[in-house]
Amino acid sequence: MEIDNLYLRILPEVGAKKATLLEQELGARTFEEMLYHLPYRYVDRTRFYTIAELSASLPHVQVRARVSRLVITGEGRRQHAVATADDGTGELELVWFKGYKYLAGKIVPGAEYVIFGKPTLFNSKLNVVHPEIEPFDADARPRAGLQALYPTTGKMKKGYLNSKAISNIQAAIFRRLHERVNETLPAWFIREHRLVYLHDALYTVHFPRDAGELDRALYRLKFEELFYIQLHVLKQKFRRKVCFQGHPFTVVGDYFHRFYDHYLPFPLTGAQKRVIREIRRDCGSGKQMNRLLQGDVGSGKTLVAVMCMLLALDNGFQACIMAPTAILAAQHHETISGLLREMGVNVGLLTGSTKKKEREKIHAGLADGSLQVLVGTHALLEDAVSFREIGLVVIDEQHRFGVAQRAKLWGKNAVPPHVLVMTATPIPRTLAMTLYGDLDVSVIDEMPPGRKPVNTRHVHEERRFEAYAFLRGELERGRQAYVVYPLISESETMDYRNLEEGYEQVNGYFGPLGFRAGIVHGRLKAAEKEEQMRRFVEGETRILVATTVIEVGVNVPNATVMLVESAERFGLSQLHQLRGRVGRGGDQAYCILMTSYRISADSRKRIDTMTSTNDGFVIAEADMKLRGAGDVDGTRQSGLACNLRVADLGKDEGILCQAARTASEILEKDPELVDERNAVLAVQVKRIFKTRVNWRYIS
Ligand code: ADP
Ligand code: MG
Repeated sequence: MEIDNLYLRILPEVGAKKATLLEQELGARTFEEMLYHLPYRYVDRTRFYTIAELSASLPHVQVRARVSRLVITGEGRRQHAVATADDGTGELELVWFKGYKYLAGKIVPGAEYVIFGKPTLFNSKLNVVHPEIEPFDADARPRAGLQALYPTTGKMKKGYLNSKAISNIQAAIFRRLHERVNETLPAWFIREHRLVYLHDALYTVHFPRDAGELDRALYRLKFEELFYIQLHVLKQKFRRKVCFQGHPFTVVGDYFHRFYDHYLPFPLTGAQKRVIREIRRDCGSGKQMNRLLQGDVGSGKTLVAVMCMLLALDNGFQACIMAPTAILAAQHHETISGLLREMGVNVGLLTGSTKKKEREKIHAGLADGSLQVLVGTHALLEDAVSFREIGLVVIDEQHRFGVAQRAKLWGKNAVPPHVLVMTATPIPRTLAMTLYGDLDVSVIDEMPPGRKPVNTRHVHEERRFEAYAFLRGELERGRQAYVVYPLISESETMDYRNLEEGYEQVNGYFGPLGFRAGIVHGRLKAAEKEEQMRRFVEGETRILVATTVIEVGVNVPNATVMLVESAERFGLSQLHQLRGRVGRGGDQAYCILMTSYRISADSRKRIDTMTSTNDGFVIAEADMKLRGAGDVDGTRQSGLACNLRVADLGKDEGILCQAARTASEILEKDPELVDERNAVLAVQVKRIFKTRVNWRYIS
């Protein structure tokens, strides 16, 4: 039977109040949504541990013991209740910080109970905080199988929706079903891949008998989930290849060749050459190009973009490049117009702060075609911006642009322009397959020659002045330095105070030594920010105290050292991006990650990753494993939000590849899924991607 139109509130076990809570906290309204609220862990309740066996390293376990009277101790907010459990092998302290008034009346001192919880060590005594406790019933059959533990929120707990209650609701759902849950994969498919039926898989993940059964159930759910995503994205790709016309860039002409022969500032790397070839072939095919260009910070993506834009010009089209910030747009404009000046190419810059008169000039130039290349920010998307004939759109640092914005670019001309999306945030392969499965991907996996990996070290705050002394050494050799402060959000006044104080401290130390410092952050007016950047770029200021506004794209090759304050507060990919700001010249560069003495285990892993590798792909993988795919930069904004219900892109690469292969095989034979055999697949793809995901559509 169908489970997506049965509502939880019809269950007496749920009721209106809890139904509202479930909807608010879990987004679960229907049976289906609830059944996909999966346990985060399972515990073995098939056996009792003795208290003597317990140690703090054990997960949740159960013991069978006599329990003493509940004693309430402590005062005010520190008041709590304690009882002692004794099973003859030892004593275990049970502790409650709340809800104990209710318990106190219920516990019969000296009676035998089943106590379930996680042993912890406190004041060198073993205890269990907030154990589940129920009278031992000698007649009851021992509970079979693994017990599921569900994630809950504080609000849910207050509304009596703890893990146990969730489990009861799952059981109630199955009691209520008078038929099996509708199968969502075709029978032949299930047979061919030896999968468990959906009904059994869903039941098993909530009530597994053993680990083997659980694994098979999870495999089925993960495989299905990843398979449908692949079927969806690859279907788009197959369709685009067949249906969408693109401007054929048939000639490689004068602009491209002249640039290559006379104005190329340095020989291209092998990877740059290969990528340009891939793009040329794609743009020449008569189909519209949708390509993601991945290349680590400093790998030379700009030059690739420039050469592709020349290709557009050679074929009589205009080109534009869009950057996420005004600073970056200005820098691109400078680089690109510098590269193309001698060739007489007209390059314009359009940002939010472009003056009206200049703006009108640009609009006119775009309309009559005299302005060939436009560099800009989101301002490019305004309705007034209209090209005579745009052939190529380059989007730099893609993840900061939303779906709607891309769709807007698409709408500007009858035949869609080729789209090249560039990102310096290396995306793990599994995530790329999921987020960008419908794009073609090019990778620059080679750095320009002479780059030395940035030497990265971890230093505690207590040794700040040693770090300063190191900076001083670099400054005395004529180099420049960044000092970066975390800024979680623009409204964090605390962070601004830290930044201001840091700036004072830097000035206090370096000022007397004759090194001037500048400061940039998001609260500065655009003009002021630009002025600060200009002074640093030109070497007037030797130190730049900054927030992550310098994260993207800023290029000052003379800067050889970066000091990151409170580095434990940055995410991995952010640290990697930041570090990419140094080491852009030929000199050895340094990055000092400063943290307080005590940092969390995750922070330590991040810092260790940074000090042990410069490879953006390795860092991206580590980031995904630490945070889960949903939190990797760019994912949330992408529209997919990677709201995978079962699979984990950090762990399920094997299943994903299998799913992608299967989807391709099916689409090759039946690209529109019209075959009778694939009827279920067609229905499911439609259903899933209509209701659940605001699916991105690049270009
Ligand atoms: P990103 O990929 O991060 O956008 P950029 O395009 O800004 O990198 O390039 C980083 C630096 O490397 C720039 O200073 C650029 O001039 C330089 N560069 C690019 N390609 C090459 C090359 N083939 N050889 C030497 N230097 C290069
Ligand atoms: Mg760049």
